[in-house]
Amino acid sequence: MSARALPFGRTIRKIQLAIAPLRATALSTVASDRDPFRILISCIISLRTKDEVTGSASARLFRAADTPEKMLALPARKIERLIFPAGFYRTKARQLRAISQTLLEKHHGRVPDTLEELLALPGVGRKTANLVITVAYQKPGICVDTHVHRICNRLGWVRTQTPEQTETALRQALPRRYWIPINDILVTFGQNLCQPVSPWCSKCLLDHQCPRVNVFRKR
Ligand code: SF4
Repeated sequence: MSARALPFGRTIRKIQLAIAPLRATALSTVASDRDPFRILISCIISLRTKDEVTGSASARLFRAADTPEKMLALPARKIERLIFPAGFYRTKARQLRAISQTLLEKHHGRVPDTLEELLALPGVGRKTANLVITVAYQKPGICVDTHVHRICNRLGWVRTQTPEQTETALRQALPRRYWIPINDILVTFGQNLCQPVSPWCSKCLLDHQCPRVNVFRKR
């Protein structure tokens, strides 16, 4: 954390105030029932996909298959049609079947609850694994996606080049009570206010304190 960085507690409270009236993200809507399989599958669908597409694609897919057995019973072509227009929908359809097969063969159809086992599933990276651990199982972990990575750097909480480095740095610095909620808070904030190219600083409660590290354009 740099000398100019904003304090965690007060800053997160202000961000929570700012996002309170905003719509929940697609993943937090899926996450509300804490079903590990749905959270895992929706997170895969969400990669390189707009939030509104993730929500509707997940809903269509889960109406047809909401367990590994049912998912594996669907042909890849059918899954493709259900999740279209999610990014890389063809690759994801095959991946969802492969994950379901591994869950059935190695985990008795259950989604594992350790980072190591989740990372061993086909195509599952740290973001997805951490989301399942924190949201579905309420175990300690920090899910860092592009929003969390970008905003933590802008606020001066970390000085990192990649989401993986941000996760490591946050594990050292961020108080544990924020580990689980930080993803949902910063994703909503990043989609609506602290946007990638030109953040809405004029509408942000942190406007007068924010160090705005690496922000070159703002509104
Ligand atoms: S002031 Fe701007 S850069 Fe800083 S957190 Fe708010 S929107 Fe993001």
